[in-house]
Amino acid sequence: MTSPHFHELIADPQLLKAIDAHGYEQPTPVQLRAIPQVLAGKNLLVSSKTGSGKTAAFLLPALQKILTTPTSNPESSRILILTPTRELARQIVKNAQQLLKFTHIKVGMVCGGEEFKYQKAMLRKNPEIVVGTPGRLAEHVTHKSTDFSGLDFLILDEADRMLEMGLSEDVMAIAKTCSAERQTLLFSATLEPQGIRHLIKQVVLGDAEEVVVNEVA
Ligand code: ADP
Ligand code: MG
Repeated sequence: MTSPHFHELIADPQLLKAIDAHGYEQPTPVQLRAIPQVLAGKNLLVSSKTGSGKTAAFLLPALQKILTTPTSNPESSRILILTPTRELARQIVKNAQQLLKFTHIKVGMVCGGEEFKYQKAMLRKNPEIVVGTPGRLAEHVTHKSTDFSGLDFLILDEADRMLEMGLSEDVMAIAKTCSAERQTLLFSATLEPQGIRHLIKQVVLGDAEEVVVNEVA
């Protein structure tokens, strides 16, 4: 069997160049399964072990979509990624910036413990991508610092951990302000985390496909 290549999944030349520059040779199993489904417009619940490459499994197809389709609302961000901790948010921002280095797309990070005023000014500029922790982002939503009404993707990274940490109310409050036209993607390292069905009902509009990957590349 010939090994699949990123060219078979991703079409945007700037993204393919960045994938090469980053040294990724082949998609991991979770990337191979998730990327086509995201590009097909599906909502997803993806379960796959830590270290299996989930970040690129959501970043690549979401970036491909925003690079190739015009925004429905230039006053709104296009991708919102929620993750439980500041360290995880930093890693996602770093990965996104590596993949976006041949483009002009901007990424903003919003976590607790940093100056609210500064974050608000940054959000007002509507970076295409916002990565943050639910508590602080929920505060910005309350203060109307930002607009997610033209969002293409709401992505919950480590959805299982956000639930365990008691962050689901903040996640749901944020989700309520996001475009009804968005795609919602939930990523988790455990198969059936407690409460995930409830969270899915609250944040996913319509049906979600389930992708379970047991192999690690
Ligand atoms: P997860 O979120 O599933 O725990 P990550 O997205 O953090 O996994 O990826 C784990 C590591 O694998 C990271 O260092 C990432 O850069 C690397 N990685 C991801 N996809 C690939 C790939 N296709 N080829 C090589 N390395 C990859
Ligand atoms: Mg991860």
